[in-house]
Amino acid sequence: TERVHFGGEVRDIWGEDGSHRVAYVGGSDVLAVPKDMEIAGYGTEHVNVLRLWDAKSPTPLDMSLFSRGEYLKAVEQQAMAESIAKILYPEDNHYEGKSLRLKQQYFFVSATVQCICRQHKAEYGTLRNFHQKHVIQINDTHPTLVIPELMRILLDEEGYGWDEAWHIVTHTVAYTNHTIMVEALERWPQQLIETLLPRVWQILVEISNRYQAHLNEYFHGDQSKVRDLAVIWGGEVRMANLCVCACFAVNGVSALHSDILKRETFHDVYVQTPEKFKNVTNGIDHRRWLSEINPKLDALIRECAGGDAYLLQPEKLVQLERYKEDASVLNRLAEIKAENKRSFAGYVARESGVLLNTDAIFDVQVKRLHEYKRQLLNVMHITYLYQRLKADPHFEFTPRVYLFGAKAAPGYSVAKEIIHLINSLAATVNADPACKDRLQVVFLENYRVSLAEKLMPASELSEQISTAGKEASGTGNMKFMMNGALTIGTLDGANVEMHQQVGDENIFLFGLKANEVAEKKAKGYRSYEYYMHDEFLKAVIDQITRGFDDGVGYADITNRLLFGKGGPADEYMLLADFESYREAQERAGRTYRDPGRWNRMALVNIARSGIFAADRSIREYARNIWGVPAKKL
Ligand SMILES: *Cc1c(COP(=O)(O)O)cnc(C)c1O
Repeated sequence: TERVHFGGEVRDIWGEDGSHRVAYVGGSDVLAVPKDMEIAGYGTEHVNVLRLWDAKSPTPLDMSLFSRGEYLKAVEQQAMAESIAKILYPEDNHYEGKSLRLKQQYFFVSATVQCICRQHKAEYGTLRNFHQKHVIQINDTHPTLVIPELMRILLDEEGYGWDEAWHIVTHTVAYTNHTIMVEALERWPQQLIETLLPRVWQILVEISNRYQAHLNEYFHGDQSKVRDLAVIWGGEVRMANLCVCACFAVNGVSALHSDILKRETFHDVYVQTPEKFKNVTNGIDHRRWLSEINPKLDALIRECAGGDAYLLQPEKLVQLERYKEDASVLNRLAEIKAENKRSFAGYVARESGVLLNTDAIFDVQVKRLHEYKRQLLNVMHITYLYQRLKADPHFEFTPRVYLFGAKAAPGYSVAKEIIHLINSLAATVNADPACKDRLQVVFLENYRVSLAEKLMPASELSEQISTAGKEASGTGNMKFMMNGALTIGTLDGANVEMHQQVGDENIFLFGLKANEVAEKKAKGYRSYEYYMHDEFLKAVIDQITRGFDDGVGYADITNRLLFGKGGPADEYMLLADFESYREAQERAGRTYRDPGRWNRMALVNIARSGIFAADRSIREYARNIWGVPAKKL
């Protein structure tokens, strides 16, 4: 059990000899109780321990208050302490400066750092070699307070000087960035940190002052650089800037994303210390996301690619490719997909009563609801198909079931409106005789890992259609690929590397590239011109404005696309990519009507998905960032 201290004041204590130390006065403690989870590896004797923390109040229930009938007060302190480990913030890619959230971040960080330091001292009797034995990987900015917290322990508890402490800390911490979207960058109000964590605040001020002095010197007093890179500025602490200042390594999570970090987001740090910047493309656990969830595909791979060797060597999946002209293997692959579709349809029927058309393409977009992920672009295209089917009974068309799954953050009202719109569209399409056996739209409720595990094996087309430059990596894209779905997508995040693996002929690419998005923005993008010049697009937007059969209109959404309303018009460039998306959708539909071709593409996708196994990512962290010796890999 560790004690985590909040609030109070810091007193300076000067010794007769001029020595200085600090004392913490007042404030309150919360107890951190370890809850260990054992994580068994595959094919190893080792079991790792994942240490989770529970929060407990150190003071027992105040019975005097209780007997006086002040029940609420009595329970309050306990409830406050215990809420720290109980409440999960549901926002995705978004920053909210909530006090409880900051308490949580410090609580988990402080408990963990204290625990590592205690174990280290028990083994070595000193923290002077701490950085030679540990790396702390800061996974997004949420645990950034490890930097001042480790400084605090080295300065206040070990009595080291600033320079030695800073050397140890900066050789211990490494940072993984997960997003470049400004609304997601954590910036904590100075006043919140000052009152909740007074000693951490003092240390942050010292880090910030020293860093600014360095920046001033390096950039010859160029205040624009100092302002952009500062750790504390305008009454806020900027966590990403603190990370790039203190960490010995900074990485993005896909090749494109890591390039953008170097070229744009952290360019002025990159020019100073280019050797800090790395890439580690994300990966997924292929033992879970392929062999466990898709046992029939697992059996086929074992037959064709050397038994279970691929479970520890995912690159062995390439051996499947020997069968890409083998009709019997391709037919088995198709039969496995068909069985998985029927079994998912059975699940949906039992859960919701909806009957999915298993003869149609299962075209799937499942991910958190976010404007940059462009579920709305998918909706616009389905609306186009609906209008064409209504207008022209001979419209050439491959039957489709569009499946959506997405949670919206509770306060993200536009995201919730888009979910409402998907449901309005679904109700209309599914009830219209013109769409019968041809077009179906289903919003799956409560999208979560356990649902993803059922859905991936049944998916045929994977929608990865974010505005280029906005999705850091994506991992859903990899789950689909490993289960033999083909991707329709933009050159964004890890899609870029998927495209490099499979080539133009095994993916349906469309849309602006990241650099073209930036150029168009710079020249002055006007979505309204696309609306005026594309009659299909205009009809789609007008229909969404009016709404569907339930009589609910969505002018709020279309006004954002055409006019902006409190921001730039069509910030994520849906209108610019609409025509290109429509063409890619048509290519996918036509390809599906040639099952031999489709199945070959699916097989090639599975065969070349090995590099997206987490084993490869973890090995890269170990080799390129953590300095694990080659013989241990
Ligand atoms: C994999 C996964 C995600 C991430 O999906 P992206 O398409 O990469 O955003 C989100 N939610 C769940 C439940 C997942 O399994």
